[in-house]
Amino acid sequence: MSVSICTMGELLVEFLSKNYNQGFTQPGEFLGPYPSGAPAIYAAQVARLGFDSTLFGCVGNDDFGRLNIERLRLEGVITDGISVIDKAPTGTAFVSYHNSVERDFIFNIPNSACGFFTADHIDLALLNQCQHFHIMGSSLFSFRIIDAMRRAIQIVKANQGTVSFDPNIRKEMLNIPEMSQAFDYILEYTDIFLPSEGEVHHFASSKHQKETDIVQELLANGVQHIVIKRGQKGASHYQQHQGQTQELHIPGYNTKMVDPTGAGDCFGATFVSLFLSGFSAEKALRYANASGALAVSHKGPMEGLSSLAQIEHFIQQSA
Ligand code: ATP
Ligand code: MG
Repeated sequence: MSVSICTMGELLVEFLSKNYNQGFTQPGEFLGPYPSGAPAIYAAQVARLGFDSTLFGCVGNDDFGRLNIERLRLEGVITDGISVIDKAPTGTAFVSYHNSVERDFIFNIPNSACGFFTADHIDLALLNQCQHFHIMGSSLFSFRIIDAMRRAIQIVKANQGTVSFDPNIRKEMLNIPEMSQAFDYILEYTDIFLPSEGEVHHFASSKHQKETDIVQELLANGVQHIVIKRGQKGASHYQQHQGQTQELHIPGYNTKMVDPTGAGDCFGATFVSLFLSGFSAEKALRYANASGALAVSHKGPMEGLSSLAQIEHFIQQSA
């Protein structure tokens, strides 16, 4: 089945510390600019799998913006929903690695071009063609974009489309008050919820609630599918079926971790597009685990994307 998926939010370029523990308090070498932004990585992975993929957002009128649009276009992403604006430069992120897993960020997002994206920027003809809208929590960094997200949710739902939500929480962003308020609103409309293991407790209704209880509550509140990402351990899927909770746990693949950036985005893009196209939850989860594993084995946020053939080859090799 053909699916048409859209997402909205930050487009930025990323600079990666060359060495571990380099930090940001003294001069050091950084590699980049790499095209990045969680929704951009997601959109590129959806397109790599051969599905219609549309990205809405803003870049500045500068080379970082052009680099982003050019790369997304090459990937096959529909970029007509990306506005180029003069009043702010393209967003940036600097990443300093402590080791292959832990990292710190310095983001320039809310005050960059993508922070100026508003509901008025949405190309309605493009949005009306989308059957599914994916939201990244990391994109909820300004009241303007939250407003745009609400508008997009209303339109996609009015068209009988579906919504997925990956909280993608960055500790550097948790102090943005609009962000956590928007989480509750978005969850109400979420059909597929994709938190990582460490994010689940943010959605507890009371302190010390266990993961299984949080999952039960979210399902009872109307979320149709919950997929929990568990890093190297793989992922789990939960859904209600005839009053019972069905759970599925699929182990991850062994791979050499080079750069964790993009794992969750590639995983989410692969799960959502394959599941919506008719794969069983189990098969979609297996392919998504492979997509996440392939993402972490490449340096750079958008360098570890994979096609269906690459995913299948990887799964066969790992058997
Ligand atoms: P991100 O850091 O991109 O936000 P996330 O926290 O959303 O990631 P993770 O659980 O880290 O999500 O990764 C998503 C998926 O990618 C995992 O469920 C797993 O399938 C795969 N993955 C991540 N890390 C590894 C690893 N070290 N080895 C194998 N697979 C991995
Ligand atoms: Mg994530």
